[in-house]
This record gives sequence, structure tokens and C-alpha cells, in this order.
Amino acid sequence: MTNNAHPFDYDLFVIGAGSGGVRAARISAGHGARVAIAEEYRVGGTCVIRGCVPKKLLSYASHYGEDIADAAAYGWNVTGPVTFDWPTLIAAKDKEIDRLNGLYLKGLEGAGVTLLEGRARLVDAHTVEVAGQSVTAAHILIATGATPEVPDIPGADLAITSNEAFHLPALPKRVVVVGAGYIAVEFAGIFHGLGSHTTIVHRRGQLLRGFDDDIARHLGDEYARKGIALHFNASPTAIDKVAGGLVLHLSDGTSIEADAVMFATGRRPNTKGLGLENAGVVLGQKGEVKVDLYSRSNVPNIYAVGDVTDRMALTPVAIKEGHAFADTVFGGRPGLADHNDVPTAVFSQPAIGTVGLTEAQAAARFGTVDIYEAGFRPMKHTLTGRATRTYMKLIVEPRSDRVVGAHLIGDDTPEIIQALGIAVKMGATKAQFDRTVAVHPTAAEELVLMR
Ligand code: FAD
Ligand code: NDP
Repeated sequence: MTNNAHPFDYDLFVIGAGSGGVRAARISAGHGARVAIAEEYRVGGTCVIRGCVPKKLLSYASHYGEDIADAAAYGWNVTGPVTFDWPTLIAAKDKEIDRLNGLYLKGLEGAGVTLLEGRARLVDAHTVEVAGQSVTAAHILIATGATPEVPDIPGADLAITSNEAFHLPALPKRVVVVGAGYIAVEFAGIFHGLGSHTTIVHRRGQLLRGFDDDIARHLGDEYARKGIALHFNASPTAIDKVAGGLVLHLSDGTSIEADAVMFATGRRPNTKGLGLENAGVVLGQKGEVKVDLYSRSNVPNIYAVGDVTDRMALTPVAIKEGHAFADTVFGGRPGLADHNDVPTAVFSQPAIGTVGLTEAQAAARFGTVDIYEAGFRPMKHTLTGRATRTYMKLIVEPRSDRVVGAHLIGDDTPEIIQALGIAVKMGATKAQFDRTVAVHPTAAEELVLMR
């Protein structure tokens, strides 16, 4: 394939067919580049195969328990035996993931991208080895994502991570989730909703570090009220196998018996064994590929996007980075992935939608800020009597009147935050929020009624 016009086999070799890698490969091919992509597991990557998508399906499943119970308050007779079958859910979820995996494969094929199945490794700055085959490329894109990080304690191998949670043979009757980030609170909500006795163990005194304090506190209150046990200020020290399951030992001297222990203790960039040292690529402290604003590493023809760069571990961000890379290198249109005011959602129960600065960040940046809040029982639960509450907060920079942060917790907030994200990104002022007519009766109307 190489000749004078083409000194390399490909113009671009992408390692990792996940959110960022697939987007970069398809757009680069669309710009006319000859592209190959390597995948060691399943095309689609974390988000499609064992992240966002299967997680959201499990989350939908876990809401039905409360929904069915609530239906009685609206006149439905739900006294018959209502049961839940985990294998049915997992089989349905797997079928959908297979369908999406097929669509991703077709998408690559349709774009003319060559797929090489197997683990790729760099031999030098222009040569990659996959399944015993050596391939050269003018540009290399590292898009290998991240992998669960688990504490180094005796018995750690007895625990599961989110990877295994999607394939458990049975729903654990008792589960302990260690950690209090996105994955921990999402899975705690899922397991609890499906009927597991669920405990969150966290080394601090509050969930969701880095989120607005009022939102994090609110979720803790909601989880405690639902019956999720919150075991704060303790770290795991060991796991033992015992007759009826596992025992998780904690630094505060206590221990918890469970059928499953799940570590949701962060994710580490996937750079181990990639041969990056053979090309002289510089890594950061967590093993992430260090890149500039154009996602370029210190080696001019080697780029990296997505979780492997440890910038903002979200699928739409990886996709934007991959797209911007393709436009910059092959489209003649230098593009930057914008990491400011990225809206995000946590599919906890209730869910969270957030964009912009937290109150603490805004206060640190601007000195004084104006805070507008609304807290209320969702209308749906006036009949059910369920004690859950919705909370919303807008943070306004007083001199410009700009809304610099919006933080919501309650039903549908992941849907609301997408549109609110546009307003914040556009620099909307509080006065403009106030001038907007409310949509009634909704929860979102509170956003234009706060005074
Ligand atoms: P990935 O999608 O991880 O893709 C990397 C690919 O590279 C993988 O397929 C891997 O097998 C492959 N690979 C690795 N090394 C090699 C190698 N040497 N050779 C060949 N192939 C290799 N984000 C959201 O925005 N919303 C959500 O709701 C959400 N939920 C999540 C839930 C869970 C449980 C998890 C774990 C993550 C979730 N995320 C969510 C984060 C999101 O999945 C990631 O940010 C996103 O997938 C990152 O894309 P990526 O392209 O960087 O990497
Ligand atoms: P996070 O970094 O969000 O959370 C990790 C949690 O584990 C924190 O509570 C952390 O505590 C705790 N922790 C870390 N190390 C230890 C340890 N050694 N012992 C005890 N506790 C520990 O990681 P996640 O794994 O939850 O998720 C990874 C990323 O994936 C997220 O940050 C997010 O970007 C993405 N994601 C996005 C989702 C979405 O968009 N809805 C859903 C799922 C994942 P501390 O706070 O003290 O550091």
C-alpha cells in the first residue's frame, strides 16, 4: 500500500473504537483520509457497550418499582403479584447493545474505515502492531479510554466494577457500592430501585465531590430517605469471602456483609502496555496522555482524545474532541473542543442536571454572587404522598447579571439541563430568564419564576 505518493499504509491509525475514536475515524475518512482503527473488545466503546447506554436502560428498569407503587394513588389496581426478573432485563439490554454494536460496525464500514480487531501497541511514532500485523500511518490517534481503578486491598479481586455489574448472573440481595462519584450514585440508585439492600461506603462525609454542595447534600438526603444506607468517613481495608457472601472491612473498624461489593472508585486512563514510550509520548501523573488544546501530544503526529487524556470523561466531550481533531488535521479547519460550560447529568434517583460554575467556584471567581433557589414537592407526588423534593439553583454574577451556573435535582432534570445549557453558553442574563414566559404546569417553569 505504500508508494512515493503514500509513504505510509494509512493517513490515520486510530487506537480504540469508542466514542472519540469512531467519530474521529469517520470524519477523517469523510475528509478523504485513508483510515484504520483497532479495537480490542467491542466497537462502540465504553459508552455503548458498558457505560452510558446499558446504564440508562438499567436505570429505566429500576424506576418501575416506585412507578407501579405510585400508580395506586392514581386509581390503578396494582395489588396483583408484581415481580422483577433480572435475567429478562439483562437479556433485553444485551440485545439492544448488540444492535448498537452492529450499527457502529456498519458506520465504520460505510465510511470506508478499515477495522483491525485486536490489541494495538505502538512500535514507534509511525508504526502500530495489531494481532501480529505491523501497520504504518502518518498520524496516530490514541482513543483508548479508561478502565476502572480499584483500591489495592486484600481481597479486592472479590469485588466487581461497573464492567461486571452489567453481566451479574443474579441481582445481589445485598450490595455495597464503594465511592460517591457519578458511577457510585447511579448504580446505588439502580440496585436500590430493583430491590437490592444497598449501602454506599464513602471516605468523605458527602456524596459527589465537585458538584454544587446543595445538590450533593440534597441527593444524600433523598438516598437516606429512600432507605439507601450511607456509610460515610470510612475506606475499605479488606474483603473476605464467608459462608453467605462477602465481608467488607472498613477503616473505622466496622464491617458490612454483602452478596456483592462494587468499586466505583474512579477510572484510570488506558495507556499501560500501549508502547507509548517507544514513540516518546509524555504521560501525566495518572498515566494520561498529555495534550494541547488541539489534542496533540508532545510528538507532532500523535494525538489523543477522550478519557485517555483525563480532561472531562464524558461521551459528548470525547466526540467533540474526536471531531475537532479530524477537522484540524484532515479537514483544513482547525477546531478546538470547548470544555467550558459543558452541561452534564447524573442519572441518580432523583437525577441531577448541572451546567457552569458551582456556588463555591463562582464565589471564588467573582467574590459576591447572587443565588436564586426553588425547592418544592413535584406535582406528581401531591397524590402519591412520596416525600421526594425537587431543588433548583441559579447562580448569577451581579455586575453582568449573567447566569453563570445552574444546578437542578429532580425528575427530568437531565432533559431540562440540555436546553438550559444553551442559555448559559449564550451568556443569558437573569433578566432574560425573567422575561421568558413560564410553561405551566412544569417543574422547569421555576427557572423563569425565581425572584
Ligand atoms: P471509550 O469509549 O472507553 O473507548 C475506548 C476503546 O478503546 C474501548 O472500546 C477499548 O476496548 C479500546 N481499547 C483500549 N485499549 C486498546 C488497545 N490497546 N487496542 C485496541 N483497542 C483498545 N458519559 C456520559 O456522557 N454520559 C453517561 O451517562 C455516562 N455513563 C457512564 C457510565 C459508566 C458505567 C461508565 C464507565 C462511563 C460512563 N460515561 C458516561 C463516560 C463515557 O462512557 C466515556 O467518557 C466515553 O466512553 C469515553 O470515550 P473514549 O472514546 O475516550 O473511550
Ligand atoms: P469519580 O471520579 O466521579 O468518582 C470516584 C469516587 O470514588 C469518588 O467518590 C472518590 O472519592 C472515590 N474514591 C476514589 N479512590 C478511592 C479509594 N481509593 N478509596 C475509596 N474511595 C475512592 O469516578 P467514577 O468512577 O464514578 O466515574 C468516572 C467518570 O466517568 C466520571 O467522573 C464521569 O466523568 C464519567 N461518568 C459520567 C456519567 C454521566 O455522565 N452520567 C456516568 C458515569 C461516569 P473522593 O471524592 O474522595 O475523591
